Amino acid sequence: MGRVIIVGGGQAGCALAARLRSQGHEGEIVLFGAEPVPPYQRPPLSKAYLTGEMAEARLYLRPEEWYADEGIALRTGTPVTAVDPAARTVSAGGETLSYDALALTTGAVPRTLAPEQGGDLGGVYTLRTLADVDRMAPAFAQGARALIVGGGYIGLEAAAVARKLGVAVTLIEMAPRILQRVAAPETSDYVRALHRRHGVEILEGTALDRLTGAAGQVAGAVLTGGREVAADFVLVGAGVLPDVALAQGAGLESKGGIVVDDRCRTSAPGVWAAGDCTVFPFRGGLVRLESVQNAIDQAECAADNILGADRAYDPVPWFWSDQYDVKLQIAGLNLGYDRVVTRPGAAEGQASTWYYRGDTLLAVDAMNEARTYMVAKRLIEGGKSPAAEVVADPATDLKALLRA
Ligand SMILES: Cc1cc2nc3c(=O)[nH]c(=O)nc-3n(C[C@H](O)[C@H](O)[C@H](O)COP(=O)(O)OP(=O)(O)OC[C@H]3O[C@@H](n4cnc5c(N)ncnc54)[C@H](O)[C@@H]3O)c2cc1C
Repeated sequence: MGRVIIVGGGQAGCALAARLRSQGHEGEIVLFGAEPVPPYQRPPLSKAYLTGEMAEARLYLRPEEWYADEGIALRTGTPVTAVDPAARTVSAGGETLSYDALALTTGAVPRTLAPEQGGDLGGVYTLRTLADVDRMAPAFAQGARALIVGGGYIGLEAAAVARKLGVAVTLIEMAPRILQRVAAPETSDYVRALHRRHGVEILEGTALDRLTGAAGQVAGAVLTGGREVAADFVLVGAGVLPDVALAQGAGLESKGGIVVDDRCRTSAPGVWAAGDCTVFPFRGGLVRLESVQNAIDQAECAADNILGADRAYDPVPWFWSDQYDVKLQIAGLNLGYDRVVTRPGAAEGQASTWYYRGDTLLAVDAMNEARTYMVAKRLIEGGKSPAAEVVADPATDLKALLRA
């Protein structure tokens, strides 16, 4: 294998480059990133970095000299503007570069509000990049009032940070409940109660009609139903869209994400893809995951296959979220569940939600239950499905289920 070009200097792109080298690839690696900084981890952006507890330097996945040491040509601030799969070239920074293999790790972009809704007012933010957080951080000041649009993980994590910093928070979710897309009502109930205890006003089944402002700066919002809320700033946490622009321009198949097969191959020969930008085969359909686990594991699988391994990507997904003093850990993917049982924890604030399809255990949400999470992950990895009634019984020793 000669020159590998990677487009997207994020979690997946960095993992892919590292894996190529660790698996013995000796050819050229060029890693293009549109952002002006080297690859960094995003999870702390809505957690410890936003509170100011984590320094910027700790966000970076690798020290800058690592790229030179590994012979990886890192081209930050250089978006790739076109791919020609027939000629096997990419265009970036006014140059055209040929490749032997190309990997797209372009990630996702946040949904924004239309200008008619006030999306272009000052003080309206989305939270995806380091630059986004640096822009919004000064607004998270004691006594400020925030409106958060969207009750998914990012909106909820930002709400927790805001409360910690003394910001008054109203969070609206247009679905009937927060976390509806990703969790069962039992987990939503737990998280809602947690935020209400910390003073967040959560309005479910409530959408934004429009933002209001004065002199180009947001001042509040009108919600569906007519209620008005005052806000010094607004965070739009309304989900992300896979960044498929480049892939579509190159004629690659895309269906809610760049379509890849279980080898991480796109529809064009010699072009692979990994991370948030892809949809891949899972349980008989195509899924898109937004997680560090998926970005790294799929990227490593793509790297192996670029080097000829012919390895299938068949993950047991996992994910986490930190809100206040609660660590939510998720093992597996609950997609297609038809039954849920809850297991009370030993101490206050501990609980877990177990998702089944028929008798098959699919996933577990563990709230402040690190040991339950570990056992659940191992059960799912091992294809073991303890009976739901057994799991729900607090007297059951979960670890013993691993030996069953
Ligand atoms: C605030 C926040 C908190 C999160 N918290 C968690 C968490 O707690 N747990 C968890 O598992 N996951 C979390 N995630 C999700 C996780 O960070 C993502 O799933 C992961 O970053 C995806 O990696 P990626 O490489 O696919 O995409 P990204 O990290 O988005 O990287 C893609 C990169 O490609 C670049 N790019 C796009 N187009 C081009 C182009 N044409 N040319 C050059 N470069 C291009 C983009 O600028 C971007 O830098 C969080 C995400 C956010 C935003």
